[in-house]
Amino acid sequence: MRLLDDLNQGLADLAAQGLTRRRKTIETGCAAHMRVDGREIVGFASNDYLGLASHPALAGAIAEGAAKFGAGSGGSHLLGGHSDAHAQLEQQLAAFCGGFVDGARALYFSTGYMANLAVMSALSAAGARIYSDRLNHASLIDGARLSRAEVRIYPHGDAAALDALIGADDVADTPAPAHIGNAAPVRTADGRTSFTMNAGTRGSSARASVKLISTDSVFSMDGDIAPLAALLEVAQRHEAWLVVDDAHGFGVLGEQGRGALAAAGLRSEHLIYVGTLGKAAGVAGAFVVAHPTVIEWLIQRARTYIFTTAAPPAVAHAVSVSLKLIAGAEGDRRRAHLSHLIARTRTILAGTRWQPVDSHTAVQPLIIGTNEATLALAAALDEQGLWVPAIRPPTVPAGTSRLRISLSAGHSDDDLDRLERGLRSAGPTVRAA
Ligand code: PMP
Repeated sequence: MRLLDDLNQGLADLAAQGLTRRRKTIETGCAAHMRVDGREIVGFASNDYLGLASHPALAGAIAEGAAKFGAGSGGSHLLGGHSDAHAQLEQQLAAFCGGFVDGARALYFSTGYMANLAVMSALSAAGARIYSDRLNHASLIDGARLSRAEVRIYPHGDAAALDALIGADDVADTPAPAHIGNAAPVRTADGRTSFTMNAGTRGSSARASVKLISTDSVFSMDGDIAPLAALLEVAQRHEAWLVVDDAHGFGVLGEQGRGALAAAGLRSEHLIYVGTLGKAAGVAGAFVVAHPTVIEWLIQRARTYIFTTAAPPAVAHAVSVSLKLIAGAEGDRRRAHLSHLIARTRTILAGTRWQPVDSHTAVQPLIIGTNEATLALAAALDEQGLWVPAIRPPTVPAGTSRLRISLSAGHSDDDLDRLERGLRSAGPTVRAA
């Protein structure tokens, strides 16, 4: 009973702080217009940035893939579950996103969460250092914890602060010559004196002394973009590696939607790219693109790759079809419409009495402040058939609770008109909250 008492107390505490989450049930496909909990609504909650999740070609591709490969993969990738559909998709992804390193390979994962755990935990070991942006996604943070590396948090988007942090660590790691001091004399068992060096605390294998910098490309709760060129420059100066989680950029940013690295025109062997396939690509799964040796290591050692059933091949097949849409004229048309919606939404939010975030991406937050006011505004919009999620701590810092307006190429100008009217008429409700 003690555990249940504890959980009930925890749940009551969450409720008292306005932090209880409630799931809405979608009764149609994910699209701009949906039936949710029995009502027709306009959704601004999904990550379906290109409006592909309900695209008939993708639903058709799932059916086609299931007809060819069946419903399930039947096993993990290393033990009988690796399908030709997975293999083809990986080649396609490497060709599409691998321009930043010669001979790039791709590895398909069942989810982005697992891909990030794999990268962060398999490439480092105890003694290594991970430098993580303060606003990184939970999966990068959890991967860093799993790695047993020392984790350093740098201020959000601040390449200069990161540079200083790594620089200070590098100095601390440099062994001072014993005769100058800085090394503590120690009597060894045989009675001689030796010196312990600071550097001795870090492991001798490369994975135990690697420096990994990790960052989201587009920050999922703010919509701003990391200064990737500056971060890569810092990484190169310190012989570190830069892991870029492009969950919210893949398919949207860069020419043909090739993602944030392509958009920034970066090239380096020390880049590791993670993209997800359940957002702009409209299906499910994720992938890592990197130097071929890195990918081979992940296949051999990444536990979230090895010890899990491979995603259904039909899903991988549908992603392959989605990539063709993303890269082609349809993708261009959808990205252009999305840009138009982003610009209009910025204008709409600037006209409210709340605080928009300076975002040029499909994630358009409106900071309200308290949990109560944010929930009241979300509820007032909900009454008008507008689903705009309230984001609260711990997802965002206390006092910065916000509405997160997610745009999709499936939205029309009429949908934005409704959002604008909704925000205007909901204002008085929130003042009272
Ligand atoms: N990284 C970021 C930045 C994300 O927002 C998400 C999903 N919300 C993930 C990784 C995890 O991806 P997936 O949903 O495929 O597990």
